Order: sequence, then structure tokens, then C-alpha cells
Amino acid sequence: MQNPQKIAVVGSGLVGTLLAIYLKRQGHTVHVYDRSPDIRTVEFSGRSINLVMSTRGWKAMEDVGLDDEIRKIGIPVDKRAIHLKDGKLNYQYYGKDGEAIFSLSRGVLNRRMIDLAEAEGVEFFFEHKIWDVTLADATLHIGETERGEWTELKYDKVFGADGAFSRIRHRMQRQSMFDYSQEFMKIGYKELHIPANADGTHKVDKNSLHIWPRGNFMLMALANLDGSFTCTLFMPFEGENSFEQLKDKESLVNFFAEYFPDTAAVIPDLVEDFFKNPTSYLVIMKCYPWTFEDKVALIGDASHAIVPFYGQGMNAGFEDITVLSEMMAKYGDDWKAIFSEYQKSRKPNADAIAELSLRNFIEMSTKTADENFLLQKKIEKWFSDKHPDKWLPLYSRVTFSLHPYSEALALGDFQNKIMEEVMKMPNIEEKWNSEAVENKIIDLLK
Ligand SMILES: Cc1cc2nc3c(=O)[nH]c(=O)nc-3n(C[C@H](O)[C@H](O)[C@H](O)COP(=O)(O)OP(=O)(O)OC[C@H]3O[C@@H](n4cnc5c(N)ncnc54)[C@H](O)[C@@H]3O)c2cc1C
Repeated sequence: MQNPQKIAVVGSGLVGTLLAIYLKRQGHTVHVYDRSPDIRTVEFSGRSINLVMSTRGWKAMEDVGLDDEIRKIGIPVDKRAIHLKDGKLNYQYYGKDGEAIFSLSRGVLNRRMIDLAEAEGVEFFFEHKIWDVTLADATLHIGETERGEWTELKYDKVFGADGAFSRIRHRMQRQSMFDYSQEFMKIGYKELHIPANADGTHKVDKNSLHIWPRGNFMLMALANLDGSFTCTLFMPFEGENSFEQLKDKESLVNFFAEYFPDTAAVIPDLVEDFFKNPTSYLVIMKCYPWTFEDKVALIGDASHAIVPFYGQGMNAGFEDITVLSEMMAKYGDDWKAIFSEYQKSRKPNADAIAELSLRNFIEMSTKTADENFLLQKKIEKWFSDKHPDKWLPLYSRVTFSLHPYSEALALGDFQNKIMEEVMKMPNIEEKWNSEAVENKIIDLLK
């Protein structure tokens, strides 16, 4: 336990809420502020996206004993179901037997976590907009409008868990030596919906992450507990096969009939959903430092916003909490050391998962439809099953391990070079699981 402090967490999203539980367990007084209404009282709109939780996320949950509670609201997903344009369906298992990521509704998860945090004694203040923070003495400035009257609230520490467009970071950005970059993707996304069958069952396999890879765009679907699926269409805003081209019912229906013909039977409200739901943006944000002395720290999307193609944004935010908690255990009440070591440990890993996530768009939207790529993955899995000490595939290292993301990025590049050589071997299609291939990989690993 640390000496009790009065701590404010700005943001009651997934990261802010879990962080609040960790801080409360340390004996601190924890107040969470959010500008939005209590998500438990809000009806979900077309933005209630699904998430997948994997090993890093579960580790943060397990360490405070919440994993069993959260598993109840998730659906295990052990493979990709790849829907090719000609109607063929391929399955690609993610890991070893039983290894699965978990599909969770972001809204349902967030509601549950706020309940759990309240049960621990965390106090939430919804519809409280934070406009600014005085870094030197951890004072929050709260008010109804940006130009209106503000109230000051003084804390011992402030955590900015206020997402990609963080106000807390905004103040930190105005200091010299603060690095910051923001890049909007040319690809946006829109949510669609596969309803449940009349008897509440799922229309397609619920234990798969469904992908319709089509090159520069793709459709994805993840199961919900109520038998429905949340689909996400990722597509460029402009140009060929883009949102700007799908302006009316006719162009939309023709487009889906051409590229996603098998969805006609399962997405009955395509036209209504498409024109009702917003087209959302994706942003990559990087910054440094993440902390100010022993007073203020950024965490989660506020410190590293990444694209969602590796399913790691929340997982990375939860891993921030794991590392912060390790630093609290190590340095006790020395918050300067805690903050300093936390940011040093996390920054290279946040940059690595940002890069891996960006690359994974190509893998999901293009390569999963490519026979050579699927063969390469099959060889890697076969070799890894035979020599688990020598080869952990990149996806498994990111998703099913706690090895640092930066290590995953470096080793993934090294493995890829080896596989480029292996794929050049004559008749690799026939002898993919031969001794010759095995020996070649072992040689190249030396
Ligand atoms: C399409 C999509 C799919 C994704 N899929 C996955 C996935 O499969 N797996 C995964 O791990 N991650 C995924 N992510 C990423 C994940 O959603 C985010 O990384 C995660 O939700 C970030 O949580 P957070 O708590 O840091 O920030 P947020 O969820 O953004 O929460 C920030 C909170 O702060 C509040 N706030 C903001 N400003 C203020 C203010 N000035 N005053 C008071 N309150 C404020 C907001 O209201 C909000 O509640 C996905 C993201 C997208 C867009």
C-alpha cells in the first residue's frame, strides 16, 4: 500500500475505469470525471463497437481479480473466417488449441467496469467537462462551457485517461520539449449489423472473426452475446471503392452485391444502417513525455492512439496500467520515479504497436485472401508447433504473450526475412512440411 493520495482520473472509458480500480486498491481517494453522461444510462447508438480482449488485457484484469466477471460477457474467438469474393470460406486459426481472443461489446464492458469500480469505492462524476489542468499543482478546471465560468479542483495527482483528443495532454503540449504528432487515416469506418436468428442463435459462426478482405477495403464482423454481430466496414473516404462513391441506395446495394454477395442474407437493414450510422475517422497520435513531474500522467489513448487493425488499443492501455502498477510496487511513494520509469518503459512499446497495427491493415484486407500468405502462415504454425522454443509467430507474440511489443516488432521483421527465403524454395506448395523446410528455417535462425 502507498501513502493515501487524492487522485483524479479524467475519463471513465475502459482505461480510466480500470486504472481507478487499481488506484483505489492502493488506498487512494479516487474521483473519475467524464464529460459524457453515465454510459449505464445511455442507449447505445451506431457507434457501440466491439473489441477483442487478448492476453495483455486479461493480465490487467486478472491482477485485480476481475477476469472471471468479464469473461462472462465475452465470446471466445479462436480463428479468422475469411470470406473470399467467389463465396469460398477459409478458416485460419489464431494460435494453439484453445487459444482465443474474446469479443466484447465496448459499451457493455464499460458499463460493467464502472459498476465494479463503484463497488470498490471509486466515485464517478459524469457530465463534468474538464477544460484545463494546472500541471504544477494538479488542479483541474471544470465548467459547463469553454468560455464560461470554471471551478478549480485541487488534487495530489491527475491522470489523463481522456482519450485520443485529451484535454490533459493539450495542456502538456504547450510546454517546450513536448513531442506530438497526429495523423488522420485516409480510411474511415462504418458500423453495420447482423441481427440474431429468431431463436436468438447467431447467423454465422460466433467463434470466428469474420473478414471479407477486398484489397483497399474490407468488412469485418464480431459476435455479440445476444446472437447478433457488429460489422465494421473499413474503406477509403475518397477514390475507387470509397465512401464517397456510396451516395445512394442503388450504388450501395450494387456495391455489396458485387463485393460481399454472401452478406445479403444476413444484413437485412444494410441501406438503413449505412445511411443512418456515421462514418468515423481513425487517427494515430504519438506524444512524449507522458508525465509531468510527480503530478500528472497520461494513459491509454490519451498517450498513444493507434489504428484498430491488431485489436490492441485497449489491450495496450490496460498494459500501461500493469506497468504503472509494477512501478508503484517497486518505488512505493516515490511518484517521480514511478512516472519516469512508467513512461520510459511504455513509450517504445506504444510506438511498436502503432507500427504493427498500421501494417496489419494490409495483412487483413489483402493478404488473408492470398494463397501464398496463407501457406506462409501454415508453415510458420507447423514449425512453431514442432519447435515452440525456436518460433513464436508474430500474431501470437502480440496477442497471446506478454513479451514487449517492441520485441514483437523486431522479431517479426527477422522472421519475415526468413520466411521470404523459405517461400522461394522450389515446390514449396508440396513440401511445405518437409525436413528440408524445417532444416532451412533452423539454419536461417542461426
Ligand atoms: C473501430 C475500432 C475498433 C477497435 N477495436 C479494438 C479491439 O478489438 N481491441 C482493442 O484492444 N482495442 C480496440 N480499439 C481501441 C480501443 O477502443 C481504445 O484503445 C480504448 O477504448 C481506449 O480507451 P481509453 O479509456 O484510453 O479512451 P476512451 O475510450 O476514448 O475514453 C476517454 C473518455 O474520456 C472522456 N473525456 C474526453 N475528454 C474529456 C474531458 N475534456 N473531460 C472529461 N471527460 C473527457 C470521454 O468522454 C471518454 O469517456 C478499437 C478502436 C476502434 C475505433
